Amino acid sequence: MSFWFWHGLRKGVQSTRYPARAENTPGVSPGRPVNTDFSSAEEARRAAAICPTDAIIAHGKSTYINHGKCVHCQLCLRSLPSPMNWEPGYEWTRLPSNRAESLPLPSAFAKSMHIMVVDAGDCGACLRELKQLNNPLYNMHRLGFFLTATPRAADLLLVVGPVSENMRGPLLKTWEAMPTSRKVMAVGACAISGGVFGKSFMCACGVSSVLPVDFEVPGNPPPPLAILHGLLVVAGRKSVGPVQESPKGDTAPWR
Ligand code: SF4
Repeated sequence: MSFWFWHGLRKGVQSTRYPARAENTPGVSPGRPVNTDFSSAEEARRAAAICPTDAIIAHGKSTYINHGKCVHCQLCLRSLPSPMNWEPGYEWTRLPSNRAESLPLPSAFAKSMHIMVVDAGDCGACLRELKQLNNPLYNMHRLGFFLTATPRAADLLLVVGPVSENMRGPLLKTWEAMPTSRKVMAVGACAISGGVFGKSFMCACGVSSVLPVDFEVPGNPPPPLAILHGLLVVAGRKSVGPVQESPKGDTAPWR
């Protein structure tokens, strides 16, 4: 018997128990800022001013976060006398701001879903986190999620990156080649809002300006468990995460 066979038997299963159980191992998620009530309007304004992507809006003594724009620079945590509240967790998948609801794939796909990944100008960070889902700790195959290199066999189009002008055509062609039961998931702040790239002559400022997006996974980059939560939402095995309130009192996710 090989060394690795006995090693495996001795150590037992090391993969995360998520989604059956919450994964609380330190370091699995960087967490994220959440809406915060400060003691003065000046503190709230200071928090909004420090954010490089305008993800924080000050409204009186309160600040509101648009997670679709947050690039996880942590300036609002580390560089303010009164930091923003910061939540742990990773179940961040949400609906795009232009959709009241998105249906998951039909139940036949719940335990076997094929994913086509398109890098639409990604810096490499979201792809690196996505790659972790294939390692023994996250092991997405145990949940029936598989990557495919052909759009004809794909159920989900997973897009990372802000959609650079050069990738607009290939992205559309990929989407058109998929079966019509397809779902689209934008992963990362750049794919949701353009992130640090913003809108320019070279950048479409997010996937939803090119294709109808069904689900979004905020984060910059989102940790592997956040992406896994997104896959489970698309497969209808989990529901979308809690929604942050917007300054208008509107509970829909906002940009
Ligand atoms: S962590 Fe997010 S919300 Fe906070 S300053 Fe950076 S980009 Fe803005």
